[in-house]
Amino acid sequence: MEIGTTIIGAGVIGLAIAAEISKQDRNIYVIESNASFGNEISSRSGEVVHAGVYYPTDSLKARLCVEGNHRLRKLCESRQIPLRLCGKIIVATSEEEVPRLEALARRARDNGVNGLDLLSGSACRKLEPQLNAVAALHVTTAGIIDSRQLIRHFVAQAGMNAVSFVYQTRILSVVKREPGRYVVQVVYPDGETEKFVTQRIINAAGLDADQIAAGMGLDIDRQGYRQYFWKSDYYAVQWPKDTLTRLIDPVPELHVPGCDVRTLPDLNGRLKLRPRSTYMPERELNYTVDPMRLDACFNAARRYLPNLRREDIRPEMVGIQPKLQRPGDSERDFVIQEESENGLPGVVNLAGIESPGLTACMAIAKYVSNLIA
Ligand SMILES: Cc1cc2nc3c(=O)[nH]c(=O)nc-3n(C[C@H](O)[C@H](O)[C@H](O)COP(=O)(O)OP(=O)(O)OC[C@H]3O[C@@H](n4cnc5c(N)ncnc54)[C@H](O)[C@@H]3O)c2cc1C
Repeated sequence: MEIGTTIIGAGVIGLAIAAEISKQDRNIYVIESNASFGNEISSRSGEVVHAGVYYPTDSLKARLCVEGNHRLRKLCESRQIPLRLCGKIIVATSEEEVPRLEALARRARDNGVNGLDLLSGSACRKLEPQLNAVAALHVTTAGIIDSRQLIRHFVAQAGMNAVSFVYQTRILSVVKREPGRYVVQVVYPDGETEKFVTQRIINAAGLDADQIAAGMGLDIDRQGYRQYFWKSDYYAVQWPKDTLTRLIDPVPELHVPGCDVRTLPDLNGRLKLRPRSTYMPERELNYTVDPMRLDACFNAARRYLPNLRREDIRPEMVGIQPKLQRPGDSERDFVIQEESENGLPGVVNLAGIESPGLTACMAIAKYVSNLIA
């Protein structure tokens, strides 16, 4: 059997790519090791449609986030996928933090983010009375999406365009036979293996993307594809629905990834807290919420939510993202690389597709489509 394009992974990225490239192309297979789609990183995101404030100007993260935000909003409107443009408030709780807020606003403007408003503390409390703030940046183009429905939309769209989905099938190896033809070996749940030939490979395997790239013979350390696992604990806040309706971030350090603790409403009006993520030992997948982090989460959140009580928060779930930088290194950009220059024409590797990957998924899909055109 010879396949045109093989997409590895049915997460939001592989599926958005399948939906996009199948508009022009046929003979596309999506191979997924799980029994269904969207069950790994994509099922554990904060479901935030980011505006693109934080990422370095001209980075792929900034460009694809801003473009992805526009594309998602348009899609959700036309296909009635739930997306609430609730907006985000980035709060400064002391005067010393205000210059950082202003620097963020400048970066956001440079990134092409619309709907930015610098607010005084009292204007901020008019929007969200629960907040303690001396100043804030209100970003009206951020929101919350039903990521499950988005993923289902991509599956349906790709299916309409004759994409084939193969579940419970894990890619074991990819070996170049000749330029533009690759032998792929897969394994089924019963241990049986099979090989097929494909002309193009799009590696959207999330946490395993670097291992698959290594299996193609690429030196993932030299290429900068090695992924480190970054764990986020979520805590549910037992407050009445809609006590707070916007996304809230404390103003972060400009050069340090993430922020102390985020407040994330969901589409049902419930709130979650997500304290700063932590690195896991090498490739460890630990989905247990760390109870030891509850106090740190509470103390950080209290700085801007003074009415929060410790008994209001409960451990909820964990998500793990692939980071390209090691602890202490500066922030890295997404890797979306067509590998002709490494002797693998027709192969596209995607590595480090952490947040804002969900927001950027449609823009990433377009970018990949242009790379392989
Ligand atoms: C805690 C957390 C919060 C986040 N919050 C946000 C947010 O609010 N907003 C935002 O924009 N982004 C957010 N993100 C980022 C976003 O969720 C990810 O960028 C996106 O979901 C990545 O999707 P993916 O398709 O690359 O990976 P996945 O969803 O993991 O999909 C990869 C798929 O590949 C499959 N696979 C792996 N290896 C193989 C193999 N050998 N053979 C076959 N199949 C294989 C896996 O089973 C999996 O289904 C968050 C992520 C996390 C973890």
